Amino acid sequence: MSLEKYRWDLVNCERCSMCKWVHPWSVKSKERAPLCPSMKKYKYDAYSAQGRFDLARALLEGEIELTPKALEVIYTCTLCGACDVTCKFTRDMEPLEILHELRKYVVDQGKGPLQGHMPAVDSIRKNDNPWLQPRTRRGHWARKLKVKDLNKEKAEVLYFAGCTYSYNANLQKVAQSTVRIMQEAGVDVGILGNNESCCASPVLKVGMSDLFHEIAKKNIQRFNDLGVKKVVTSCAGCYGVFQSQYPAVGEMKFEVLHSVEIIEQLIQDKKLKFNKSVPMKVTWHDPCHTGRGGEKQNLWEGERIKWGLSDPPRERNFGSDGVFDAPRNVLNALPGIELIEMERIREFSWCCGAGGGVKSAFPEFAVESALERIDEAKATGAEALVTSCPWCESNFADAIIADGGKIKLFSLVELIEKAL
Ligand code: SF4
Ligand code: SF4
Repeated sequence: MSLEKYRWDLVNCERCSMCKWVHPWSVKSKERAPLCPSMKKYKYDAYSAQGRFDLARALLEGEIELTPKALEVIYTCTLCGACDVTCKFTRDMEPLEILHELRKYVVDQGKGPLQGHMPAVDSIRKNDNPWLQPRTRRGHWARKLKVKDLNKEKAEVLYFAGCTYSYNANLQKVAQSTVRIMQEAGVDVGILGNNESCCASPVLKVGMSDLFHEIAKKNIQRFNDLGVKKVVTSCAGCYGVFQSQYPAVGEMKFEVLHSVEIIEQLIQDKKLKFNKSVPMKVTWHDPCHTGRGGEKQNLWEGERIKWGLSDPPRERNFGSDGVFDAPRNVLNALPGIELIEMERIREFSWCCGAGGGVKSAFPEFAVESALERIDEAKATGAEALVTSCPWCESNFADAIIADGGKIKLFSLVELIEKAL
């Protein structure tokens, strides 16, 4: 699609503001009714999906130009997809697709991405990762593990660590624990080591669709050639693009699972047994890209005709089929763990604030959004916030420091390993 092809949505948006709030049936309190991080922060309508629709329409009509302020409005959106879910509850729009198309339009006009995104983009081009790290160090996280090298031998499952869990010294333990847990349960797993490359989610998010397609195509080919049955990743960002965007790029001869899903299966099949108690009250944060963005999607191409009618007919994604039950089932299976829910959960989860290139270009806004979630987590009385996304984990870690360290933070696999 293109922004032009969404003109119907841009003109027919009802300006009803549903896209800014938790759906009325699910609101628990006035304080936690807002759901759009950029609207909450910047207060002006322009910073909501509804406002960005107006901006997009005005750009197409030639009424405004891509000024620095317009670019700020466009890129201070975390692409969390909350507006997409809440709009579709009663309306017929595609806010998330339009927000992506708006960024592609900006890139096509030669005005994007922003300066703050460029180190990561250049590094993906040069090093296959956004962290300015050499390719030759990508597999170092696994150097002390005995795990199959899929460059040399076959395995049923490819474990795809992703860039952040591969390179971030504070987070490599997540990839290591995930492999150890799968091995403990007898999964035939291997890795690509230095031959793994970025999933390309960061370039898609800033509007660089051509580069995304180029990288995604190579990844699909590589995974197909390996002959693996499953690709398992711990990264919510990788999982989100594998599920929602890769199927439109090429045929995938493998199943994609988030590590939380395979671990849930292993527990159900009694292949993982827990011998230790982990006495702790915890609360769970649904990452946007395993949650509402983790729903399988058939990306639609066609023409909007009128309310509820498209040619060809299109499936609408409501975000409610994401990976919501698996992490809760895993937490409830861990001896000693007591799960207490926050107010905004599942498809109405509050974004951690790091997505859509916001952490790179607007880091203070990212931490502010994370602080709101930390506050919500603390209000449950939980000792720890648990999640399974490297972006959420590193942004929450920054926010917890800024907040004076009043809550602990765990990746789900860390708690699983403690209980084994
Ligand atoms: S909820 Fe949908 S229709 Fe209503 S203002 Fe937002 S984008 Fe427009
Ligand atoms: S994707 Fe998230 S941040 Fe962007 S407009 Fe929608 S709700 Fe707001």
